Amino acid sequence: MTTELIKISGLMQNFDDFVRAGELLREGKVVAIPTETVYGLAANAFDPNAIEKIFKAKGRPSDNPLIVHISDFSDLSKLVSEIPESAITLAENFWPGALTMIMKKSDKVPDEVTAGLSTVAIRFPSHKYARAIIDAAGVPLAAPSANLSGKPSPTSADHVFRDMKGRIPMIIDGGDCEIGLESTVIDLTGDIPTLLRPGGVTLKQLRSVLGEVAVNPKILEEVSDDEKVASPGMKYKHYAPSAPVTIIDGSSESFANYVKNNINGRKVAILCFEEEKELFADADITVVSYGKLLDGVSLAHSLFGALRQFDEISPDIIFAREPETTDGIELAVVNRLSRAAGFSRISV
Ligand code: AMP
Ligand code: MG
Repeated sequence: MTTELIKISGLMQNFDDFVRAGELLREGKVVAIPTETVYGLAANAFDPNAIEKIFKAKGRPSDNPLIVHISDFSDLSKLVSEIPESAITLAENFWPGALTMIMKKSDKVPDEVTAGLSTVAIRFPSHKYARAIIDAAGVPLAAPSANLSGKPSPTSADHVFRDMKGRIPMIIDGGDCEIGLESTVIDLTGDIPTLLRPGGVTLKQLRSVLGEVAVNPKILEEVSDDEKVASPGMKYKHYAPSAPVTIIDGSSESFANYVKNNINGRKVAILCFEEEKELFADADITVVSYGKLLDGVSLAHSLFGALRQFDEISPDIIFAREPETTDGIELAVVNRLSRAAGFSRISV
């Protein structure tokens, strides 16, 4: 299959391309689309055959459900069997935006989308091209991140092209994703709203409008093979470059000393903060920085692109630095990096 890569300059300039993307989606094809979080691999959420194509293109395990994307709050009523009060509060504050809400599904949502669960994940993205494509398709779009399963999520059309070339007919290039990490996932089906995945909308923001929000402990912990989890995505290795990643906790100086003393003949690369780069000026180590220590927004924006760079460098090992865990965007950065490292962590 040839994969068409379409660079968008504007809604009007590329009007015909949006129409074509909509046609492909209505025909049951898969199209990669830009969103404010990461690129998505979209298909008609009501068409089980189209959904199967997403799982195939990604190599995603079929027990990991997809998020359904809508372009208007009114689309929600087709997808869920009830709308909790908390969903309305959250929608008023954070939709359109980087928040996915889990609610009880309606009969119209096929099991292929929800991996057989009785609940469905829904997001109303703010990205104008994403919304234009949903509008053009005329149906809600199920869309996971547009990477091969296990790889870092794509934050540019180039990342998508590398993973999806020959696997899907069309990629819509809307430039770099603003946030750079996936949406926040919150479960609204229990008594207390529960955070299942930290993301673009922070825990602090959620608590500021809902009051109590529980946090699923598996956000920052490893899940064993036989464990039952609230969100199937928690089970899988994610976001990982080909080389193994180990997170190093401690001061910048102890980090630099540790790395320099543990090269052991290997090709070593590091993922660090901007401020730490100079500590490695004299060492034979490939240094990739992903933002300033105290600027969680920039770290989130650049993390996946930085992780993808390592697949070109092909080191034997990657030592990585992470920000302090807070109730802000840093929680999402730590969550993604911990999973990329398979929870391998050393304190120095
Ligand atoms: P991705 O498609 O890569 O952004 O991942 C979507 C995430 O949402 C995965 O971690 C899924 O496990 C999670 N998810 C989707 N639907 C549900 C659901 N009904 N209940 C719990 N988690 C869900
Ligand atoms: Mg993903």
